[in-house]
Amino acid sequence: MANDAFDADLIVIGSGVMGGIVASQVAKAGKKVIILEAGPRVDRREIVETFRNAPVKLSLANAKLQGAGSPFPSMPWAPSTYGDYLQYEGPVKYNTSYLRVVGGTTWHFGSALWRMIPNDFKIQSLYGRGRDWPIGYDDLEQYYNKAELELGVTGMDGQDESGQGGHPMPPRTMPFPMKQLNSSYMFTTLAEKLSVGGFNPVLEPHGRASRPYGNRPVCAGNNNCNPVCPIGAKYDGSQHIDLAERHGAKLLDNSPVYKVEAGEDGKITAVWYKKPDNSEHRLTARYFVLAAYGIESAKLLLISTSDKYPNGIANSSDQVGRNLMDHTGISMNMLTKEDIWPGEGPTELLVYLNQRDGAFRKDYPSYKIKVRNTVPTSPDDRRLHQEGHHGLQARRDDPPVFGPFAQLGDRLRTAAARRKPRHAIEDQVRRARHPGSGPLLFGDGLLECRPRPWPGRPEQDRPAA
Ligand SMILES: Cc1cc2nc3c(=O)[nH]c(=O)nc-3n(C[C@H](O)[C@H](O)[C@H](O)COP(=O)(O)OP(=O)(O)OC[C@H]3O[C@@H](n4cnc5c(N)ncnc54)[C@H](O)[C@@H]3O)c2cc1C
Ligand code: SF4
Repeated sequence: MANDAFDADLIVIGSGVMGGIVASQVAKAGKKVIILEAGPRVDRREIVETFRNAPVKLSLANAKLQGAGSPFPSMPWAPSTYGDYLQYEGPVKYNTSYLRVVGGTTWHFGSALWRMIPNDFKIQSLYGRGRDWPIGYDDLEQYYNKAELELGVTGMDGQDESGQGGHPMPPRTMPFPMKQLNSSYMFTTLAEKLSVGGFNPVLEPHGRASRPYGNRPVCAGNNNCNPVCPIGAKYDGSQHIDLAERHGAKLLDNSPVYKVEAGEDGKITAVWYKKPDNSEHRLTARYFVLAAYGIESAKLLLISTSDKYPNGIANSSDQVGRNLMDHTGISMNMLTKEDIWPGEGPTELLVYLNQRDGAFRKDYPSYKIKVRNTVPTSPDDRRLHQEGHHGLQARRDDPPVFGPFAQLGDRLRTAAARRKPRHAIEDQVRRARHPGSGPLLFGDGLLECRPRPWPGRPEQDRPAA
């Protein structure tokens, strides 16, 4: 138990996946844990209802780019990153959209849960770029195993995740905790077609349950992974917060920490937080974990100034808040000759990693081609809404058609495929083309596809219609 001199053995700042895992482990060990969370608790049902009732439903990337909101709350003391909370300076806009609620950003994450491959740790030695890591893949392997069990990762054993279509990679001493979900009709069809061109299909390891896992039900394939899985089949940080609380951790929500205090010896002694009524509170602990996401953690350290630490805590290097990295991306749309029916099963699963590793890394970095399985109706939804058509009536007046439409990436959804002549749809795709990218063309520009039944979840067949 906590020494009486302290309020807790451990104070965790931030209730996301990082904070939740640490808090649950330490609480399980019988220690007194307090979690301070800036945002409120959220109820999955309410988030789903808010999203369901939103007239325009956009993918996360588009929602942010097009200035649309999120179904998650924005509180004055923990504003949503979908609004103008993040102020950008400099030439590159950092279009992130982290969440500030109990459970954190994984509520709306894609849940791709990859391991690195051994060569990633030595790109200076192998490719003359960047720096080698001081440790190698083998040093981390056992921790990957532990992390995959904690998060409940679903994946395909024996795949070459270096994308070369070769032997299993990276090496694993433990199988995936859950067997991979079966591919949807669209993914299976595309994988077949694209393999002719030398593209090696890889099924992404991810956080959707393919068997009951803890409190998580099996993924029902209803394609709502972003912004929220309605049934909690996809991992999110609230699951570890529940676990921590079951083991006695105390969570204070709506409690943004605004100052970290250090003693003369440099050890952290206390944190200060505010409540919505603007009252200020101080808590002490033997240990502290700062897990408030890349941006907020740096911000908190930088604003925690004192006479001894005029540039903030833990910032003697002046590197806190610098070197922030994002994953960049471009998007392409393509049309198929026959319907391939996006929108069935998880929003992402099939990826191409041909350019994951190889001598090319001397010249340019690795990249992944992700096939997005979202339904491109949102631009038309927006138009219908602006024209005054709402709800089911709008669906009856102008039913969407999206069978022949596939997305590689998620930025260009303006080319909505509706009940229009195919040439008009093609034209829309071309016009919506992002500079530097474009529809992926094969042969005459369109794939030939044959209808085939959806293979269903593992060891289960889809009930007959
Ligand atoms: C759109 C999107 C998609 C993503 N998809 C993937 C993916 O597919 N695979 C993958 O591996 N990663 C993905 N990520 C990244 C992943 O979600 C994050 O790396 C991960 O959630 C970080 O966990 P965290 O616990 O550090 O932060 P978070 O999960 O963001 O949790 C931090 C918590 O700290 C709280 N907090 C912040 N400031 C304070 C404060 N001052 N006081 C108290 N509490 C505070 C926040 O409210 C929040 O609840 C995605 C991220 C985004 C934005
Ligand atoms: S497909 Fe549906 S059930 Fe499966 S993770 Fe996504 S939202 Fe959840």
